[in-house]
Amino acid sequence: MSVSIDTFEPARRAALRPAGTADARRPLIGLDRAGLAEALAEIGVPERQRRMRVQQLWHWLYVRGVSDFSAMFNISRELRTALDARFTIARPEIAEEQVSADGTRKWLLRFPPRGAGRPVEVETVYIPEDGRGTLCVSSQVGCTLTCSFCHTGTQKLVRNLTAGEILDQLLVARDRLGDFPDAATPDGAIVPAAGRKVTNIVMMGMGEPLYNFDNVKQALLIASDGEGLSLSKRRITLSTSGVVPEIYRTGEEIGVMLAISLHAVRDELRDELVPINKKYPLEALLEACRAYPGLSNARRITFEYVMLKGVNDSLDDARALVRLLRGIPAKINLIPFNPWPGSRYECSDWEAIEAFAEHVNRAGYASPIRTPRGRDILAACGQLKSESERLRKADRLALEAMMIAGHGEA
Ligand code: SF4
Repeated sequence: MSVSIDTFEPARRAALRPAGTADARRPLIGLDRAGLAEALAEIGVPERQRRMRVQQLWHWLYVRGVSDFSAMFNISRELRTALDARFTIARPEIAEEQVSADGTRKWLLRFPPRGAGRPVEVETVYIPEDGRGTLCVSSQVGCTLTCSFCHTGTQKLVRNLTAGEILDQLLVARDRLGDFPDAATPDGAIVPAAGRKVTNIVMMGMGEPLYNFDNVKQALLIASDGEGLSLSKRRITLSTSGVVPEIYRTGEEIGVMLAISLHAVRDELRDELVPINKKYPLEALLEACRAYPGLSNARRITFEYVMLKGVNDSLDDARALVRLLRGIPAKINLIPFNPWPGSRYECSDWEAIEAFAEHVNRAGYASPIRTPRGRDILAACGQLKSESERLRKADRLALEAMMIAGHGEA
């Protein structure tokens, strides 16, 4: 198993503020246009200029992807200096970048402390596929939920990410993948969708996005803004473990595609696998799905179903799943369980996964089996956990042994 570690260029690293140092300047990334106008008002930009200045900033930040005010050559030196004194557009530190044997990349990003807090770290994963590239974005540091199959669920919630920190994950990925137009070229057009590396976003990284609704909403509205990062809302998927009261708002206020971490078809089992089910059981969850704004055959809900050997992978489970989803335009993603040290489950046998998929497929639902990606760098689904709780070497060896022994497809 080969894992290459691509270290961040020393020159750029040196240019970054020392890790862990608080910066009194406020981040501009993550502010909407009204927020940027307020920021400009704070440094004395006259009202009549603000709209135009906001447009300029928006373009530099989200079309050109600059991370230094000095690159904004159509803004006067005086204004750039004033902006730099009060605000920051610097990227977070890339504490580690790993590239999997299958091309998946995982970044460990370190965000500076906010106020009296400590620096925090999150993981972001890029999965290249034929004709598209998906970025799996985190919404929280750790998670309050304790889904029993999920590695992140063993890390206590440290805090919610801000809208800027959520967007920073996309900006860093696009920097590292060369997905912004060259800052030295003056035309600065939006990179056409066909030529992009990051074509899709899934809010499926660390955390429950609907427990951080406002920040996630703001970040996704900026990511999908047609004059900036320009990602289509149909290429953004928000995955929830089932925070029922926020599901309708997600469709109404953000308008992105919805995915549900389902994993079980009976309340008793789902209570164990996805404990939020005790609060919002299956019936309430599916009712919220049926009412999801914009739901149609063209805008189906994705139900994620992790395949756990002897737990939820029988044909009876497949039949019950089909019954449960009746009437909901849906696609079912079957996810072979990705092992992590200390996990108490095993991945279903391949034959069991195929039989399950076939039954669901015959009932009329697309049921792709997700190819595990980036398992060798713990970047696969359910394996994320940040640097503050990184694996000890012994755990890594144990993980490798598990993978070699159990799951040849990794
Ligand atoms: S699956 Fe999602 S909601 Fe559940 S513990 Fe993991 S990160 Fe949290």
